[in-house]
Amino acid sequence: SAALRDNYEMNLKTQTLLRLGHSEYRPLQEQAIDALCSGQDVLLAAPTGGGKSLVYQAAGLIRSGVAIIVSPLLSLMSQQVEELNAKGIRAKFLNSTLNSGEQDDLVWALRHHHIDLLYLSPEKLVQASVIGFLHSIDISLFAIDEAHCISQWGDFFRPEYSQLGQLKAFFPHVPIIALTGTVDQKTIITIQESLQLIDCLVLKSSFDRANIKLQIAQKRKAKQQILYFLHHEVPGESGIIYCRSRKKTDELSNWLRGLGLPSLSYHAAMTDEEKQANHAVFIKQYGTIMVATTAYGMGIDIAHVRFVIHLDLPSSPEAYFQEVGRAGRDGKPAKSLLLYGLQDMLQAQQLAALNPMASEREIQHLGSLFRILEGRGCRRQNLLSHFDEEIPACQYCDRCLTNRSEQNMSTASQKLLSLVYHTKGLQPFSLLIQVLLGKKSKSVSAIKGESLPLFGKGKELNEAQWKSVIRYLIAYEYISVGTTSFFTLCINEKARAVLQGKVQIIIPAEYYYPVLSEDVLKS
Ligand code: ADP
Repeated sequence: SAALRDNYEMNLKTQTLLRLGHSEYRPLQEQAIDALCSGQDVLLAAPTGGGKSLVYQAAGLIRSGVAIIVSPLLSLMSQQVEELNAKGIRAKFLNSTLNSGEQDDLVWALRHHHIDLLYLSPEKLVQASVIGFLHSIDISLFAIDEAHCISQWGDFFRPEYSQLGQLKAFFPHVPIIALTGTVDQKTIITIQESLQLIDCLVLKSSFDRANIKLQIAQKRKAKQQILYFLHHEVPGESGIIYCRSRKKTDELSNWLRGLGLPSLSYHAAMTDEEKQANHAVFIKQYGTIMVATTAYGMGIDIAHVRFVIHLDLPSSPEAYFQEVGRAGRDGKPAKSLLLYGLQDMLQAQQLAALNPMASEREIQHLGSLFRILEGRGCRRQNLLSHFDEEIPACQYCDRCLTNRSEQNMSTASQKLLSLVYHTKGLQPFSLLIQVLLGKKSKSVSAIKGESLPLFGKGKELNEAQWKSVIRYLIAYEYISVGTTSFFTLCINEKARAVLQGKVQIIIPAEYYYPVLSEDVLKS
């Protein structure tokens, strides 16, 4: 009867969970598993650590046939297979290190229903011979892990990922689950379209990682700022410092080691052995500081990371979120600090503009990141609104903790914009600031700056404040960086409304890090 069948399915679900080592499903996990078991396609978006792998593992075990799991991260797949095997679960990893004898054994085992979960790389999965073979066996589901790679890497880096769209046509009756970390709505739609998941169930968990304190501050003597943070906020804790360049990574970790702080580096120019060795130390020796490029990232799941520092700008809000999210994976309080300045913004924008490989999308992502840095109000609210999630002000980011004063910079903005206009977008920002401040330097004379109507007309602000005005105007696309190497600024059509006084420019007060108390300032 139906009741009996329901009861049986219930038991199977519970038993499967126990086999996988847990006692309760999380709500989203259960919804996703139920949908897959009824043959529906699913797109599951949840932050790293949200327990996504359990979903395809459990559904794969519950449904009859072999679950085919693809991930771009080979190390993650082999790790999962090992863990599953240790629990007595029949999982295998089809990779190119298998010799022909092992491959034959695997094929035999698959044909004779001795395997429940099969992991393989996207490259393998799209091979005609593999697809042909899969047609000859019973498949329970396809799981596409890190599905955001479809839109992020597109055709250039991982062409196989876009070919995964054929799966639905080849296997119309096999449910597909696409799994992704924190992504915006546009990316969700791109994933759905690329994988042909027309009527899929979209499940999105909250992206808020409330245990991580967000701090974003202007970079000033960055090394001292980092030292202060390490000594006062996270003494003796493990954490990651992200830098853009390999050289900087090595330099900083050497410098920290010189000061007696246990520090290692990690970047793509190191050998695999070096990388693995440093990673192993970071896992084992509590209190290690890993100075890394973003090469240290995907698939890294270490519970005890207590802080993440950004010494350079991440490439997008997604990247920022993911990188910060490597802290506090155990749910306990964790801290983050991002240091940046106008120079970093201009450099990032210029690199993107000059890079022929950079897509329109990447440039847009950078713009979204800038608005998270410069936007008014709570940091966490701004970040999560990028992922279409509304939350109350957090009360513990730098904005919520300091008095959130704001200044009306409309007049200042008009001055700057007209100066950019009058100098035809040919002058670097530093020179424009000198003109506004009425500095009689050589470079000002060289462009006859003294004779410009705005010469010395901006003394109401200091240099740092002028930079903050420029940053805001860049973030909201009133101006953009020129493509020469001198960081010139060009005016955009949108600026007209500011010049005409139709738009007010309200800028949040700068956050200085560290915030020194009165006592410290006096002593
Ligand atoms: P994701 O793939 O979303 O990054 P994982 O699948 O690696 O997340 O899971 C993160 C952690 O949460 C793992 O340590 C896992 O054992 C744990 N976990 C997953 N599901 C459950 C559950 N239902 N109950 C308790 N712990 C869980």
